[in-house]
Amino acid sequence: MTEKSRIIEIFTSIQGEGPYIGVKQLFIRFCGCNLKCDYCDTQNISNEFYLEFTPEELKKHIEEFNLKSLHSISLTGGEPLLWSDFLLEFLPLLKDSFKGKIYLETNSTLKNNLEKIINYVNIISADIKLPSASGIENSFAEHDEFFKVARKYDKEIFAKIVFDENILDIEISHCLKLATKYNLALILQPKTIDGNISPDKEKILEVFNKFLISHPDTRVIPQVHKFLGVR
Ligand code: SF4
Repeated sequence: MTEKSRIIEIFTSIQGEGPYIGVKQLFIRFCGCNLKCDYCDTQNISNEFYLEFTPEELKKHIEEFNLKSLHSISLTGGEPLLWSDFLLEFLPLLKDSFKGKIYLETNSTLKNNLEKIINYVNIISADIKLPSASGIENSFAEHDEFFKVARKYDKEIFAKIVFDENILDIEISHCLKLATKYNLALILQPKTIDGNISPDKEKILEVFNKFLISHPDTRVIPQVHKFLGVR
């Protein structure tokens, strides 16, 4: 039997990032992550406070929400793909009660775990991590492997890149190579710290233009939920 999942919180709110900004989602925030980004706002709490669910228990809990009002269910974290064995049992249980989309928010480093559950996912919001903004080691090779798996399936996928004023040209070059190779829509998300966007507007435009030179399918979208004051 699959171990129980550890979940930090389950709540409905407005998606505040990326091209689906503004839609209503049910967020399932899973515990734990294989990375340790400097700007992470869940890492510190996720190992201490969590609820445990079997797949059946989570299905019953989810069905207490008004599922018809939702655009999608967001699997978020932490890193939800750490729970791929659990998700492989849980997601098929939803097929009768939830007709919307399954939206996966991932750090895009766990390709084998993605492949286990990708048939149950509709939209993939895939991070490309920049060492200059996240403080973690270069993970472009892992992202490459991840996108290779994702592109074997007919799934909607876009890449989200959190950046600040320290972004390097070599990082932009790595992102553009991945975007071209895997035909990815790119979302540039200026880093927000304590409610303030950290790169100034000149830097944001400079970075935006560097991406646009070779990848027109690029957008700048800040985290809107923080301005709205919602989770
Ligand atoms: S990948 Fe996401 S959850 Fe994991 S440490 Fe980075 S910001 Fe936090």
